[in-house]
Amino acid sequence: MSNTHDATRARGRHSGPTRPTAPRRLADRGRVQVLPTDQPPEGATSPDARPRLSFAVPPARGKAPRHLADLDMAGRKRALRDAGLPAFRADQLSRHYFSHFTRDAADMTDLPAAQREQLCGELLPDLIHEVRALRADGGRTIKHLWALHDGVRVESVLMRYRDRTTLCVSSQAGCGMACPFCATGQMGLTRNLSAGEIVEQIRHAAALSEAGGLTGGPARLSNVVFMGMGEPMVNYKNVVAALHRIIDPAPEGFGLSARGVTVSTVGLVPLIRKLAGEGLPVTLAVSLHAPDDELRDALIPVNSKWKVGELLDAAHDYFEATGRRVSIEYALIKDMNDHAWRARLLADELNRRGHGWAHVNPIPLNPTPGSIWTCSEPGVQDLFVDTLRRAGITTTVRDTRGSDIDGACGQLATEALNQERAAHTR
Ligand code: SAH
Repeated sequence: MSNTHDATRARGRHSGPTRPTAPRRLADRGRVQVLPTDQPPEGATSPDARPRLSFAVPPARGKAPRHLADLDMAGRKRALRDAGLPAFRADQLSRHYFSHFTRDAADMTDLPAAQREQLCGELLPDLIHEVRALRADGGRTIKHLWALHDGVRVESVLMRYRDRTTLCVSSQAGCGMACPFCATGQMGLTRNLSAGEIVEQIRHAAALSEAGGLTGGPARLSNVVFMGMGEPMVNYKNVVAALHRIIDPAPEGFGLSARGVTVSTVGLVPLIRKLAGEGLPVTLAVSLHAPDDELRDALIPVNSKWKVGELLDAAHDYFEATGRRVSIEYALIKDMNDHAWRARLLADELNRRGHGWAHVNPIPLNPTPGSIWTCSEPGVQDLFVDTLRRAGITTTVRDTRGSDIDGACGQLATEALNQERAAHTR
């Protein structure tokens, strides 16, 4: 564990009241060590500002209207009955929604004409409005900015690959986890999304793919990843409800294969353990980004609560409970976490718990220009990847789809907001 001690020394030396001004070298490794604290968080007003972790969920400004996707079939039937409508129509309504991806009464010709509008009005309210749709990668990537009923904005990104079509969804508006390199992390948390608001992003994507909206012709949405705005574990109840709607077969849900669904978390250990017990064999992704607590404490604010060891134990137990190989997400940040010794330490930490239970996804950091938050040099990235592979860890560098359309988490919403502010002050 001498590696960790090096990092401790490097940090300890510089964590006094004066802030370091120049990059430092770890004595015996020859590589520069940039620290997350070398720069105040984006938008901070004081040089000593630190990212502020918050688990508080602000009260919603008016609840999102109730939606069929918030409810299981029994709940949908109850809702119709309570509204004086025939409960058995819940089944037909659900098939239109989950199998034909429509909420338009005019499409529902098997429902009595006199009741169609009323049925849809009861369970299929309009929850999300398109503010912008941006295309990239020759039309194989589409990023949407959505406005919710209260004007709050969230993003989703639809990506077509050779063998799959994936939607990256938001589970919260903003995020309270305050990771300093993440655009959403700088916003703070506005509110949780309802299950309906999460599922509506998916229905739109499924309809758009099916209608040939992505280059390459009609496609079936096959994968959903919770890697958009927000920390899914903080919105646990609604995320689990949304997972049921994604996986449960029609008419309960879309009937996607659970193996195509990924929940990504910054590391809320008790909720990882809870998810393992839900009987939902979705893939877990852990946004680790550092294998040593010394760096992760400064890089990922939630590490103040749950340390690397506890997190990897919970991730390993998740694999044991579900049989799903865990993804370890690792955004490579130049001179901060991309050292070969960290790749070796990461491999050791994974191998110590078993073989073949996790794979690593290094992600080139989507950079913030002019800051310490920039991606690794190509050679450094290659060495990091090779080091992991040589240690027997399956490693796949994540492609950076849509980076030219502010593809990274929270970037489009931030950009749109800045443009609107500029327009108002002009
Ligand atoms: N809160 C969840 C999911 C949302 S972020 C989580 O932390 O896992 C999805 C992934 O994008 C996370 O791994 C996150 O760390 C990563 N990410 C955020 N900002 C990024 C950036 N600028 N470049 C690369 N990856 C980023």
